[in-house]
Amino acid sequence: MWRSAVLALSTNRAMRQIATRNGLGKRMASRFVAGETIDEAIAVAEDLNQRGATGELDYLGEHVTDEGQAVLAVKTYLDTLDRIANTRVDAHVSLKLSQMGQELGDELCYDNSRKLLERAAEYANFVWLDMEGSYSTERTIQLYKKLRAEYENVGIALQAYLYRSKADVEEILSIGGTVRLCKGAYSEPPEIAFPHKVEVDRNYKVLAEALISSGRYHAIATHDDKMIQHATRFAKARGADSQAFEFQMLYGIRRDLQARLLRDGRRLRIYVPFGEQWFPYFMRRLAERPANTLFLASSIVAEAGSRNRG
Ligand SMILES: Cc1cc2nc3c(=O)[nH]c(=O)nc-3n(C[C@H](O)[C@H](O)[C@H](O)COP(=O)(O)OP(=O)(O)OC[C@H]3O[C@@H](n4cnc5c(N)ncnc54)[C@H](O)[C@@H]3O)c2cc1C
Repeated sequence: MWRSAVLALSTNRAMRQIATRNGLGKRMASRFVAGETIDEAIAVAEDLNQRGATGELDYLGEHVTDEGQAVLAVKTYLDTLDRIANTRVDAHVSLKLSQMGQELGDELCYDNSRKLLERAAEYANFVWLDMEGSYSTERTIQLYKKLRAEYENVGIALQAYLYRSKADVEEILSIGGTVRLCKGAYSEPPEIAFPHKVEVDRNYKVLAEALISSGRYHAIATHDDKMIQHATRFAKARGADSQAFEFQMLYGIRRDLQARLLRDGRRLRIYVPFGEQWFPYFMRRLAERPANTLFLASSIVAEAGSRNRG
């Protein structure tokens, strides 16, 4: 009920116009979105670099329905890679394959993604593939494998809530791939995904252990302090270097934890979304899982609490 109401609002043109013209709407979104332009995203990444974190710039957009939109997204990513190189900011890029035209055909999506990997390789930069809903998991993994066979500078997000992810982690490790482990943000049925948080968390720990044990560099993407502490303790017990993997978090979420990780000398990369499509993105984040609304409140409360204590 809540989800469908928020999703309906996210595509409502009048609502979008009101929100994007409204100062409060922009202020609310600005906690999670860097801005609408590449320059704004670069400015956020520069600020992150000054605080000791690296960036991961995501040009907002997904499920493109015509080739022109995909071409525009490719151009924006190419420009973003150029700007990262010119400003010498320490940041990767992250993209959704549905933004590269995956729903229009695998070949188009492959060609578009390849252009970005090629440009990123020229700059010795790195491209992350986000993982979307389960409707595209298999296609995304297959395309990742194809791209990884040609380029080393590409990583893929895997979701701990999916039963299949254990096998996917093993497969990606077997081809020397790079994984960003997250819990998963979409609404998936119990036939394919753990329905309870406690099971997702348990699987997250198992998969994090597999990644850390691999001896290759991967990303542990979470705002869950229990997952962070587990990964940290596991790495220490295995004698793994604390710099041998990185933590990743979303821009604007649990900034108190972000600061703590940096104080502790951990590697931290922040995912920085930007683009003119911030309104549907912001609304979808709330809609994806009802608990996200609670996360928002709890994150603000937790941050306020640690500010008061500190
Ligand atoms: C860098 C990065 C990249 C990601 N890429 C993908 C991807 O490609 N595909 C995908 O499906 N998912 C992706 N996600 C989202 C992820 O799957 C989870 O939905 C999200 O991170 C919440 O899970 P959690 O691990 O933080 O743990 P949770 O147990 O869900 O949350 C732990 C705590 O974090 C805080 N928190 C979490 N989320 C929010 C929020 N939205 N607002 C405010 N506070 C919050 C709260 O304090 C909460 O108690 C990504 C996440 C990160 C950090």
